[in-house]
Amino acid sequence: MTRERLFFAITPETDVRAHCFEIGAKAAAGVGRPVTRENIHLTLFFLGATSPEQRACAEAAAAKIHESSFELALDTVGYFPKPKVIWIGATQIPSSLTRTVDSLSRNLIDCGFAGETRPFVPHITVARNARRAPSTESFPPIHWQCSNFALMRSENVGGKTEYRVLRTWPLTAAVGTDET
Ligand code: ATP
Ligand code: MG
Repeated sequence: MTRERLFFAITPETDVRAHCFEIGAKAAAGVGRPVTRENIHLTLFFLGATSPEQRACAEAAAAKIHESSFELALDTVGYFPKPKVIWIGATQIPSSLTRTVDSLSRNLIDCGFAGETRPFVPHITVARNARRAPSTESFPPIHWQCSNFALMRSENVGGKTEYRVLRTWPLTAAVGTDET
């Protein structure tokens, strides 16, 4: 059975992408290998090897999300020592982002996907193989308007990881829902 390596993520538009890349390259200088511009994303849920049946369930799970769009102010640089990655994150996490991940996770666990045991730390990986934490820790916020999320496929192209957007869903609150 053919399985695809899938995950849900939010992908930024060009200017936010370029800005993240710039901050990432600076933070990674002499420490790690910057992630390419095209690969910059924020993972919501990692599905891993997925069968066509599971993918259909995951798509139905995504279609049930009715959370409002939000603005994420990216303003901090972090480091995960175990996977050796440098990332960009936000000190303020919009409640709509938390709710989106919570609902998506619940729906996906119902499909049989393994839930994450660690608390969700929204992050954009900007450098890999980083031997130590970067020196830059904060920067003027990058304002990122998040209005949809995507099902993505991770592909190995000539030894390099590339991502393809398979399908997107809007972040829109259900009519009549109080979003305060
Ligand atoms: P590489 O080819 O170096 O692994 P990558 O980690 O970006 O590159 P994938 O492993 O396909 O590519 O991962 C896709 C996304 O899912 C990335 O954001 C990655 O951090 C995340 N991810 C991968 N494995 C897991 C996991 N076991 N749990 C949670 N998130 C994961
Ligand atoms: Mg990986």
